[in-house]
Amino acid sequence: GAEITAANIDKLSQHFPMCMANLHRTLKRDAHLKHYGRFQYTLFLKGIGLNLEECLVFWRQSFSKITEDKFNKDYKYNVRHVYGDVGGDANRRGTGYSPLSCQKILTEHAPGTGEAHGCPYRHFSAENLSALLQATGVSDRSVLQGVIEDKANTKYHMACNRVFEHIHKNEIKRARDDGVMSAAQLETIVHPNEYFKRSYLLKN
Ligand code: SF4
Repeated sequence: GAEITAANIDKLSQHFPMCMANLHRTLKRDAHLKHYGRFQYTLFLKGIGLNLEECLVFWRQSFSKITEDKFNKDYKYNVRHVYGDVGGDANRRGTGYSPLSCQKILTEHAPGTGEAHGCPYRHFSAENLSALLQATGVSDRSVLQGVIEDKANTKYHMACNRVFEHIHKNEIKRARDDGVMSAAQLETIVHPNEYFKRSYLLKN
């Protein structure tokens, strides 16, 4: 498997759930993300094992249209804060914040105009969600239809897991046949970092 470094994030993004894939795509397109998007994405990257140093490299390179000075002044501190390198209360000092669960992403800080954080299954229109899925390679009609139905029924986890199972169907079948993956390990994913971990393990 690939090392978890700034240089590999692009490659690793094939294992990201839609919430993080959307942040990744937006960041590449705009060379910028708004505050809460940076917070959600930095925590996720921390959770997949990107260390602080590499995370700072990643953000510096991604914010390609600004000067070193501006990056250091306006953005560096927040990344260090998330990792517990600076600021925060005594509990957070040293470890920083925990990566956000789906529950938090689904229910807290709903994204406003021009913001890319949140959960696409919940916060996107059906049309934009369908476009995002197709842009990331999910074009199967029945899967797309199922996702739109899940969304209409406010079953956002089900939509996410439906896409996971579709993308990994061959690997899941093989893992089941080989007995290396039990039913318990295929329980509904309720954390973006769990999505990543499972995808990474199945494909590597
Ligand atoms: Fe991300 Fe969770 Fe939404 Fe899936 S259900 S896209 S992991 S927030």
